[in-house]
Amino acid sequence: MTRFALLSRGGWLLAAVSALSLFAPTAAAAASPSAPTLIVRVYDAFGAKVDELDRARAVFEQVFDATDVQVRWRHCRSESVDPCDERLQDNELVIRLIRGPVTDTRVPSQALGYSALHAMHQRGTLATVFPDRVRTLAQRAGWAAGDLLGNAIAHEVGHLLLGSTSHADDGLMRPHWTARDTRNSVPRDWAFQDREREPIRAAVYGRASGRPVGVPTARVEPPPQRADH
Ligand SMILES: [Zn+2]
Repeated sequence: MTRFALLSRGGWLLAAVSALSLFAPTAAAAASPSAPTLIVRVYDAFGAKVDELDRARAVFEQVFDATDVQVRWRHCRSESVDPCDERLQDNELVIRLIRGPVTDTRVPSQALGYSALHAMHQRGTLATVFPDRVRTLAQRAGWAAGDLLGNAIAHEVGHLLLGSTSHADDGLMRPHWTARDTRNSVPRDWAFQDREREPIRAAVYGRASGRPVGVPTARVEPPPQRADH
């Protein structure tokens, strides 16, 4: 689970957006033709803006391009050309975008989202992200909300593919995202670490080859620890 501490306030939107342009992928970062394909079904019950979702998608694809995984992002809407009403394939994940709950005490108030992992198989299919909380952090860090949303989704997908609720000391899978750190971040802060890339690629290969997928929601990540920033 990702959570953040809202201790800093800033209006560095333009500066941060300019800095973010440095993160744009190069052609060399694109996934190879033989890269396995990961399909993400995005169900937006929150109602994110079109630009917000477009940026989230672009950032998400950047992250997985660098991991040599091809991404097919599906925006699932009943009234759209892609209602996503067919059976879930093994290499498909479900991303649910909802407003952060205010009365559910099981979800820490500062969590950006969570992923559900099967207790036995240590893998998952469903992740939830709260775009309203992502927006709040993005605003205070001077980021475009969609950019941070894409990273938040990639973080939760990382849990699903790595089959672990564990976090890393740094990189995309670090547990605490503060406004200060986000504002001062560098590209490697939003990438999987080298040791995470091969397991992620292997997980997508495995799913694409049709290994059984466990039923998710048997276990939810424990609440994270409070950051002291
Ligand atoms: Zn996490």
